[in-house]
Amino acid sequence: MKLLGVLPFARSLLTAAAGPGDTVVDATAGNGHDTLFLADLVGHTGTVISCDIQEKAIKATQNRLNEAGHVSNIHLHQLGHERLTEITRFNESTIAAAIFNLGYLPKGDKNVTTKGGTTIAAIKQLFAQLKPEGLIVLVIYHGHPEGKLEKDDVLSFIQSLPQEEAHVATYGFINQRNDPPFVAAIEKRLVKGRA
Ligand code: SAM
Repeated sequence: MKLLGVLPFARSLLTAAAGPGDTVVDATAGNGHDTLFLADLVGHTGTVISCDIQEKAIKATQNRLNEAGHVSNIHLHQLGHERLTEITRFNESTIAAAIFNLGYLPKGDKNVTTKGGTTIAAIKQLFAQLKPEGLIVLVIYHGHPEGKLEKDDVLSFIQSLPQEEAHVATYGFINQRNDPPFVAAIEKRLVKGRA
């Protein structure tokens, strides 16, 4: 297949937006796959902020990082991403990229899932702290009931972002069965007259 799958496509966007020394955010740590990917991307001079509401997810992420030998510049927080500004005390224009892998922890409690209202609250906070040309990447799973509601809420919010401020796009396979996940991405536009 020549077309990138949804997860490789999401990672290609992160790679385009961030590199060594950058500050990046994993808004849904889960089992730590994305946090580890981001840690490799920004290297030891960069900073990864990673959060999840479940202790189990934070522990799994910490274990994955330990096994891979990542010890520094990664800040793990057991916290809802809607409270991100409590931990990312940065000025505007700090974050190069952020990823949300929405839904529930694989093999975990399906009732503990991301929700539209809190996801949108986190997107708003991150967008305010994003560098110009920085990206927020969302992998949206809508094969479960809460995911359907979240998809509708999140899409309607990001579609309403002013085009002078953001480029917003989606990527996914539209002929697959069973509501396959898809990517939505928000790029903060350069504003004329500002760095
Ligand atoms: N990115 C993960 C990985 O690489 O393994 C997978 C993430 S999993 C699909 C979704 C995660 O979102 C779950 O671990 C769940 O606990 C977490 N979650 C749900 N609501 C959240 C919230 N408000 N803030 C942060 N994390 C949340």
